[in-house]
Amino acid sequence: MNLSELSFGPFHLYAIETGRFRLDGGAMFGVVPKTLWSRYIDVDEKNRILMAMRCLLITSESTGRTYLVDNGCGTKFNEKYENIYQLDHNHSNLLSSLEHHGFAPGDITDLIFSHLHFDHCGGTTYYDEEDSLRHTFPNAQYHVTEKHLATATDPNAREKASFLPENIRPIAEWEKLNVVDEYYQYEEGMDALPVSGHTIGQQLPKITVGDQTIVFMADLLPTHVHLPLPWVMGYDMYPVQTLKEKERFLDKAVDQNWYLFLEHDAEQEVITVKKEEGRYKVKEKLSLSDIPVDN
Ligand SMILES: [Zn+2]
Repeated sequence: MNLSELSFGPFHLYAIETGRFRLDGGAMFGVVPKTLWSRYIDVDEKNRILMAMRCLLITSESTGRTYLVDNGCGTKFNEKYENIYQLDHNHSNLLSSLEHHGFAPGDITDLIFSHLHFDHCGGTTYYDEEDSLRHTFPNAQYHVTEKHLATATDPNAREKASFLPENIRPIAEWEKLNVVDEYYQYEEGMDALPVSGHTIGQQLPKITVGDQTIVFMADLLPTHVHLPLPWVMGYDMYPVQTLKEKERFLDKAVDQNWYLFLEHDAEQEVITVKKEEGRYKVKEKLSLSDIPVDN
């Protein structure tokens, strides 16, 4: 069990591992040939790579709020899909990871969705013994961008498989749904960066204390192996836009030594980035607990 956590100004951050799964390596690396990407990441006999669903819990002393950013794929898959994705909830799962850090679902005041693909929001609801859908976090306000909600509730044919109706409907109908605009500020020191190449209206929560910044990377940079600019997922709706967003983002991250919290990287929790001869590379590999906080 990973107990990585960090005191960061008025915030306390906790890595919440919600399980492991596998996705097709080809789809995860888009136009990059397998002979290249398979040098850097292990691939199984079905051509799949291992991925984390690492979420971020943030408590704020200033506001008393407890935010959970994304919540994994949840438990609503049937056996067929559990096998397709080789879903592993023994490695870790949402509720036991929260409990290990001393949190109960009722403690969460805010659910922030980077976006609503199944591996980011499936934990929001579960089926009870009577097969009724229930909300896991009864006290939480939900936050999703307006543009993203529009695309998730009326998806195009290519993206449809990522937006499961049993995930989306309860979120869209939740009475405490807060539809946010781009660049939303949750509170002082915590806002969101909008990106739309992977899916329209994705938001990346960003926490800044003094001159230190930690960003939740969601699907702009799923793993550290995706650092080279053209290594963009085949899943992305607008890969050319991802290229531009990634370059602009990584230049800032290099410049200001941002700490990048990786949601899907099975090996690395946090990285910093450098640029050498025009290429982005990992500078440091850390866990949340290793971030040297200067305040
Ligand atoms: Zn996604």
